[in-house]
Amino acid sequence: MKWTRFETVPLAELIDSPVIMGRRLRTYPLEVGDAAPHALCVVSENEKAVVVPDWILEQVGAMCRQTMRLMRVPGKPPFPRERFLFLVALGDGLRFGVEHGESTLIGSSDRFFLDAKKDDQHAGGGTLGVIPHEYFHAWCGKLACPEGLVSADFHTPVNPELLWVYEGLTSYYDEVLSARGGMTLAQEYLDGVRDTASSYEIRTGRLWRSVEDSARAARHLRQRGQFWHDARQGQEYYGQGALFWMEADAIIRRGTAGAKSLDDFCRVFFDVPVNPVGAQHGYTREDVVRALTSVLPSQDWDALIRARIETPAPTLDLSPLLRLVGYDLEFTDEPTKAQAAEEKKSEGQGTINLKQSIGASFSKEGEVTDLVIGSPADLAGLAWGMKVLAVGGWTWSPDRLREAVRASKEAGKVELTVSFGERVESKAIAYSGGLRYPRLVRLEGEPDILNEAVRPLDEGPAH
Ligand SMILES: [Zn+2]
Repeated sequence: MKWTRFETVPLAELIDSPVIMGRRLRTYPLEVGDAAPHALCVVSENEKAVVVPDWILEQVGAMCRQTMRLMRVPGKPPFPRERFLFLVALGDGLRFGVEHGESTLIGSSDRFFLDAKKDDQHAGGGTLGVIPHEYFHAWCGKLACPEGLVSADFHTPVNPELLWVYEGLTSYYDEVLSARGGMTLAQEYLDGVRDTASSYEIRTGRLWRSVEDSARAARHLRQRGQFWHDARQGQEYYGQGALFWMEADAIIRRGTAGAKSLDDFCRVFFDVPVNPVGAQHGYTREDVVRALTSVLPSQDWDALIRARIETPAPTLDLSPLLRLVGYDLEFTDEPTKAQAAEEKKSEGQGTINLKQSIGASFSKEGEVTDLVIGSPADLAGLAWGMKVLAVGGWTWSPDRLREAVRASKEAGKVELTVSFGERVESKAIAYSGGLRYPRLVRLEGEPDILNEAVRPLDEGPAH
């Protein structure tokens, strides 16, 4: 029997230092130049699942180098702590990522690396995106974090209202750094912005609940029910928080004619004393405003935070933000190849998503699984719990419904027969828009902020 004896460490460091173990543990060192050692450690019951191909190790190493390059302050070590370990446990029912000072604990299915395809993160369900997310947390969350989340002990309730910085900035940069490190293509990044923007344009909950309020309600929204999601909002400090930081990046890049970016904010904001593992440096809202102002003094950052984060959105329209990054959102009735593949995959998983057209989604069996408030489907009286029995007089099938929505351009309506408990009713959805797939269209003459943001940084020496 082999024994391992661990050194005695402070309680906070012990709690911040997870352990994985198993017979099939594999450890892969990552190429991070002269930084403190980094490694990817994988454990699983499935011996094939722990084999990580070289190209993934190269991409993860490149993403780490790009993150350190982004954070680099001359005269300081590239990585602030003594090591960094990606601790990955793969098996049935695991799906999480938790950030720690010198590591992250990631749980996923044993297909995590097996399904990943080179240059196509979406082929693996986009799950590898958790890797750059948790790595960015080594700075944003574990080096510095909101003062309200720093607690002297483990039983005092925390104040989560600045989670739009903690998780929002991390969510913006996990996609940017994924692309800078080559884990995703620039086009995939653009597709992600398109899907985020188009889904937020039908998210009616934005009109009453601010991003900050979603942060305050974090503990209720993490385990939310499935009904009325768009009206109630979810953990918006992630997605809408990320949109705020995308806007901030665009404002800085435009305001300095490309000389500065949000990267400069990060270098200022995360240049803090390195506390022992498990003891973060705390910051306040004023610190955020001060650091942003130091990068671009001409912008009223306090007012922008009040408008975008602390106040509900006055309208669902996101075109001003998209124009700022050099794009516009349009809808067509033909999906791109990737959208068609995504639609097929989503149908395979049991969701027929027509939220962008009639405003509802359905299970493969025809049950209403989601509704957009105020949409044609909602106005026609569709509701959760109803089941579509027939489309235009023919028995239900996902293809028939999609065809009926496509034909609505001529018919001006979509006719459904639905059951609700023991009742059967006819519903005529007044709609003539056909199928709708979002497209991001480049605005000529405007700076292309999205492509500028994902361009890899020069890995040469600090200047
Ligand atoms: Zn996070």
